[in-house]
Amino acid sequence: MAWLKKNPDEQISSNEISSSLILTLRALDRESIIVDAAGKIVFSSEKIDRLNLIKDGRLSSQELLALVRVVRRTGTSREGTFEVARGPIGESKRELQITATLISDDGLVLVIIDDEGEKQRVDAVRRDFITNISHELKTPIQALSLNADAILEVKDEPDKVVTFANKIKLQTNRLNDLVREIINLSKLQDSDPMETAQEVEISDVIKEAIDQCESPAQVRKITINTDEVEESIVFGKREQLVMAVHNLVENAINYSPEGTAVTVSTKKNDNIIEILVKDQGLGISEENIDRIFERFYRVDPARSRATGGTGLGLSIVKHVVGNHGGEVKVWSALGVGSTFAIRLPIAVTKGDK
Ligand code: ADP
Repeated sequence: MAWLKKNPDEQISSNEISSSLILTLRALDRESIIVDAAGKIVFSSEKIDRLNLIKDGRLSSQELLALVRVVRRTGTSREGTFEVARGPIGESKRELQITATLISDDGLVLVIIDDEGEKQRVDAVRRDFITNISHELKTPIQALSLNADAILEVKDEPDKVVTFANKIKLQTNRLNDLVREIINLSKLQDSDPMETAQEVEISDVIKEAIDQCESPAQVRKITINTDEVEESIVFGKREQLVMAVHNLVENAINYSPEGTAVTVSTKKNDNIIEILVKDQGLGISEENIDRIFERFYRVDPARSRATGGTGLGLSIVKHVVGNHGGEVKVWSALGVGSTFAIRLPIAVTKGDK
């Protein structure tokens, strides 16, 4: 039988792993790891990094390590469900079903990982989301229908027809914004950005997000300052990260009085990059601050409508950041302003290894 190593520089412990086993593992629609008796990982499937299970060539989860030890000691296969953090910070987790099996006399353990829990979670989120959407779409659609009826009633009075037609135009624009945000959010809920993650430069993300907000800032006479934006690389999807920073800057503009300033800055510590968006706006009360990340939640629906808000902006931010293994924080004082922070793990780039 032919024997194969994962790559030419890699030591494969005392036992070598057969090429047919490696080919089988690569063909599976699941991630897999082989751990030797010393706890060293001697094989891992291609996309394993996204699951945050390995650190410095070893299993990072104590729970998983314990499972592997039991399998090695008893010689019997074991299954378990584990909640694994998506990143070093934040509360976003994924549920993994794990099967561990002893595959050699000298203690090699094969771990097969199934992301089934993630699929179930996505299904539950989707069902819940569809209920929310149907409710949110009903109001503007009813308003459109009422205005269309009104036009029919005043069809011989051109001035009134124009007034109702303008209302319909506004409502259609709103509906358009709403549908666009719904599509954005449902895409985020369905996909795992880490599957196709790339190295993304945060200073570029900030620049692009600010450029997109330039004209609304001009209209509202708001200056956007960038303060000490440092270079930093994270793993993820650039367009999603731009969308998240864009949403925070757009909110800072929308919920601030004319003539004030919005400041975007970064801070680095302990391998975390923090993107801070600070405004001198309305602020958010304590009772509302815990709710603003909920889908469709608006402190003042009338103001949100006037600025083209949909109540989805911050839930999009929360999703993007959670999917990237990070977290969002907010500090705010009524009448003083708010600071939102996106915190993301800095990528260990090839040059750092
Ligand atoms: P919207 O589309 O209504 O802006 P978001 O999800 O982006 O929805 O925000 C939810 C609510 O949180 C907003 O309606 C607003 O009441 C409040 N909010 C968000 N950002 C700010 C901010 N920078 N200052 C004050 N209030 C804010």
